[in-house]
Amino acid sequence: MTLSKHLYTQGIQCSKLLWLQKHNRNVLKSQNSNTFINVETDNEIKLLAYKLFQNAVEIVNTSDVSQMISLTQKSLKNDVKTIYNATFKYEDIVINVDVLTKSEDGLSLYHIENSLFTDITLIQSLAVQYYVLKQLGYEIKDINNIKLNRLYQRGNTLEIRKLFKIHNITNKVIQLEDETITNLAHFKTILTDQNNEPNIDIGKHCDSHHSCEAEDYCWRIQKKIPEYSIFNIFKLGSKKQKQLYSKGIVKIEDIPNSFWMTAKQEELVEHYKLKEQYANKEAIKTFLDTLNYPIYHFFCNSFHHAIPNFKESNPYEEIPFQYSIHIEHENGKIEYKEYLSPDDIDPRYEFTRKLCEDIPQDATVLGYNINSIQNILKNLASPYSARSEHLHNINKNMKDLMMPFEEKHIVSPSMKGYYDKRTVVQSFLPEIESSYSKLEEIENNKKVLHIFPKMNKMEKAQKEKTRDYLKEYSKLNSLSSVKILEKLKEL
Ligand code: SF4
Repeated sequence: MTLSKHLYTQGIQCSKLLWLQKHNRNVLKSQNSNTFINVETDNEIKLLAYKLFQNAVEIVNTSDVSQMISLTQKSLKNDVKTIYNATFKYEDIVINVDVLTKSEDGLSLYHIENSLFTDITLIQSLAVQYYVLKQLGYEIKDINNIKLNRLYQRGNTLEIRKLFKIHNITNKVIQLEDETITNLAHFKTILTDQNNEPNIDIGKHCDSHHSCEAEDYCWRIQKKIPEYSIFNIFKLGSKKQKQLYSKGIVKIEDIPNSFWMTAKQEELVEHYKLKEQYANKEAIKTFLDTLNYPIYHFFCNSFHHAIPNFKESNPYEEIPFQYSIHIEHENGKIEYKEYLSPDDIDPRYEFTRKLCEDIPQDATVLGYNINSIQNILKNLASPYSARSEHLHNINKNMKDLMMPFEEKHIVSPSMKGYYDKRTVVQSFLPEIESSYSKLEEIENNKKVLHIFPKMNKMEKAQKEKTRDYLKEYSKLNSLSSVKILEKLKEL
């Protein structure tokens, strides 16, 4: 029964998850809707990080692990100084070292930034690599982590040595040596028993490193936790959740009246039990009073940019390429403005120029979940300093339409604790929801929204279709903001 470094880190999160990975994979569901994008990004980062090294041999991944191990051995014997994806096995543990370099003082190990590993799990993953190599009798000189340098700003060309930062984390990894030995022995015992799933209860660990692939199985099927449960009550806190859970109470309906909660929590629970909408009209009015006409309902679309492809951009910067604005006047008149960048340019300059043309510095701008929008506009101020004051003022005047829902000033039982825009639309605006559904029937929404950086490789007809789709989707998003506000005003 082989154990990889990835499975080992899953075992650290929860040994039941490790057991399920090995003996009952059917119950697992991928949690990450961006898996494909992450894998592509990880590969791109890895190939660039390889350029930090020279004269290397790559051990190509195949299903034949013993061949990968023997190629690694052959390379080491032939005195190859750098090996990518060096593969080793000790007992049942197979490890792949992202980059291994060999010198007279011993081996150096390098982990390359990868979305599968958080800062904690990468140390654990390197600890198991260190353990295997030590058991196999190798001398380890140092252990390192290669990360994208988020402070690096690209010039005309991509400077690989500045793009990455290498951190020596040898001491942190070696400190885990005893813990690693204990963990491995524990995992071996668990995995040997193929018939008995470990008896591990649900808890905070289910979400500690990554959302767990067994969440549906453990939470919904085994423990019968409803989609909206005591774990979703507004700001209830884990101590009180545990108090209820330890008494076998998971359904909101089963919370005894004597259980102490804040006045707001009690009110929300009461309305949920009665299947009634809850609205704090006074708080909603206070929010509405902060908005001045004309109101600029703003939606913007961006793509994630791990490797900076444009001059004066940083690793992981969000690059905006599209926006739509519904301008709502006090007399009810609505104007519409939009921008969608051509796909073969750095979209930021025209986006900034048009945006500053379309939104005055003193206008009330209304977005949904504005933190990310404000961040995008803030980042634009650096390469386009002439417009920085205007962008700063747009940000300053931006209000968040999500706030009344996040703060539970208005809640419908069908929201089940969520307050993202789509949930709000589904709960209060059936006609807008049906427009979203119609658009999703045309295209796989998630896929199309991530496709913009690749549109320059599309055939003309496909490109036009995608552009039309993006425009429709963006327009619907700023329109839904108008409709949500309308709903709040009606209360
Ligand atoms: S959902 Fe929780 S208890 Fe179940 S396997 Fe995952 S981490 Fe373990």
